[in-house]
Amino acid sequence: MRLWGRATSARRRMLCLWLLLLGFALVTLALSDLFNRDKGHSHQNPGPPRRPLQRFSSPQDLEVIVDSRDPALELGVDLAPLKSLQEDQLLFVPSTQGTKSPPQKKGSYKVLLPGANKETAAPAPPTHGEMGKAVQLHLEGSERDTELAAVQKYGFNEVVSEKISLHRRLPEARHSECLGEQYSESLPKASVVICFHDEAWSTLLRTVHSVLDTAPKQYLQEVLLVDDLSQHGHLKSVLSEYVSHLNGVRLIRSTKRLGVGGCRALGAGRAAGEILVFMDSHCECQKGWLEPLLERVAQDRTRVVSPVMDVIDWQTFQYNATQWPVRGVFDWRLDFYWESNFPLQDKGPDSAVQPLRTPALGGGVVAIDRHFFQSVGAYDPGMLLWGAEQIELSIRVWSCGGSMEVLPCSRVAHLHHHHLPYRFPDQDLLQRNKIRIADTWMDAYRKIFYRRDTLAHFIRQSESPNITERLRLKRSLGCRNFHWYLTTVYPQLYIPQDRPALSGELYNVGTGSCADYPRLQGPQGGPMNIAPCSGTGSQHCDLNSDGEVRWGPMGALCLDAKGERAVLSPCLTQIPTTSRTQWKFVKLSGQLVHQQSQLCLEAVKDGNLSQSSPREVSTHSSTGGLFLRPCIRHPRQQWHFEQLVAPKGT
Ligand code: UDP
Ligand code: MN
Repeated sequence: MRLWGRATSARRRMLCLWLLLLGFALVTLALSDLFNRDKGHSHQNPGPPRRPLQRFSSPQDLEVIVDSRDPALELGVDLAPLKSLQEDQLLFVPSTQGTKSPPQKKGSYKVLLPGANKETAAPAPPTHGEMGKAVQLHLEGSERDTELAAVQKYGFNEVVSEKISLHRRLPEARHSECLGEQYSESLPKASVVICFHDEAWSTLLRTVHSVLDTAPKQYLQEVLLVDDLSQHGHLKSVLSEYVSHLNGVRLIRSTKRLGVGGCRALGAGRAAGEILVFMDSHCECQKGWLEPLLERVAQDRTRVVSPVMDVIDWQTFQYNATQWPVRGVFDWRLDFYWESNFPLQDKGPDSAVQPLRTPALGGGVVAIDRHFFQSVGAYDPGMLLWGAEQIELSIRVWSCGGSMEVLPCSRVAHLHHHHLPYRFPDQDLLQRNKIRIADTWMDAYRKIFYRRDTLAHFIRQSESPNITERLRLKRSLGCRNFHWYLTTVYPQLYIPQDRPALSGELYNVGTGSCADYPRLQGPQGGPMNIAPCSGTGSQHCDLNSDGEVRWGPMGALCLDAKGERAVLSPCLTQIPTTSRTQWKFVKLSGQLVHQQSQLCLEAVKDGNLSQSSPREVSTHSSTGGLFLRPCIRHPRQQWHFEQLVAPKGT
């Protein structure tokens, strides 16, 4: 008993000692945390006014490692291209405005031909074609291989980029009226948040320097670099060291791969500026880009704004100005486009400098009030690494009380990748992100999406997204429904009717193929073709009650006749009684009759001669496609609209 009692009291003493030690450790921890937090805080609220860009004193100040409980995602290092961006996904036309005589300061626009001395500046920017030729012709075999490897690794020609100054200045592309614009003296400050994942050194640092070189110091709170768990060696200590010499640049590193939205939300949480400017890690700013953005947001804190996004060519690094007007749109597959050079509705005398309301904004550069960003739900944390987050933000901002604009007097160039350089652990992540958008924001209209993205439909059939939190947010913010968005914000988007038996893939019995439109021909339209039925929803079309066969995910192109060829052309806004774009589907025979000519749609395979009208043989002996021919009973004139998806629950 006694022994037991002594042992117990000894154990008790030990326990007390442990507890004491533990307590001490906890107090020390808490104190050091408090101290550190104070230190961090002193950044964010600099106290007495001082020169806008403070120099950060110690390395701890400028680099923060943000830890997370979850282990880092396992990611392969093989950087094979995953998705080639379609050439026609972005519509850019070189601007003719204000580019007549770009200032040619010596050394201001450094584009060097491969192999040239790094220190020599090219006197004038070579044209796209010239640079393209330079890359193709002047390269020896091994150099060419290096370039190809760089393109493979980064999705753009890093070898060319590396030869261009980190401080190159872009030729003036703003409208001359922009140059006289006056902005308020007291604009709020911006935190420029630049997320990056395995970005190339040259493009990342050119982005940073470009901001530092162009943003007026009094309006720049900080440049916040956020490393989204990059693996490349040059982004580790070398970058930390480099950044430590830059005034006003902070580096945050995440220990978990967050993806575009998550990474930006992380940066936003650490940003001190009143206005957040999210910027891709491969941009170059035009002089005067920041002031218009700050002014518009300062005037209305629920406004989300973007510069005109100019384009840096992935191969030549040539700068291409985008033609104004330009606005951001998306289609029924929830793919984003910049739509350029459309007719302005109310073209006032100063329309060249007037902000333009836009249904959506791209992700390249977006400015938003920090508090509004947080209160409207930041980025959807349920979205996976990459894709469609800008569409989600756009629909949400508009539906929940905000607005969006493109500002013509602000221009930033974005490097348009050849392909995405990342390897994702989830092949279908883009579809999964889109499913979240459809189910959270599109109400019954989501069916239109699922019919045009059958992969998303099938994923949705076997799993439901967890969107409870987002629906709660939508309710608590009192957001409007998608019908309101479509009619008020984006009335230009055609709303398909998708009637059973009159919409779907247009299947041709005679050839066993489907009507198809090669996307490479672009959004302006061109000859229709036939191709194997894709089953993905990409060949979906909709014969509506006006008799139009509306093609594609935007529904803005209509089946039309050009001579004897069936082509796509932009749909007319008003349908006259007998229009070139009106068709009648005869269910019994499967014939699709062109109303104006009373001819029938006929499919001709490559090299497969039309027997129904031998006269045409000589002119079309080698090309297949869709033609208008006198109506006869022939399988090549027999069509079915095949609906791939008839979602019930979705
Ligand atoms: N990014 C990131 N984490 C990712 C994928 C991308 O931080 O998992 C960054 C990327 O470095 C870039 C921005 O997010 O700065 C947008 O990505 P990207 O440029 O590939 O998108 P795109 O412009 O092609 O839509
Ligand atoms: Mn980008």
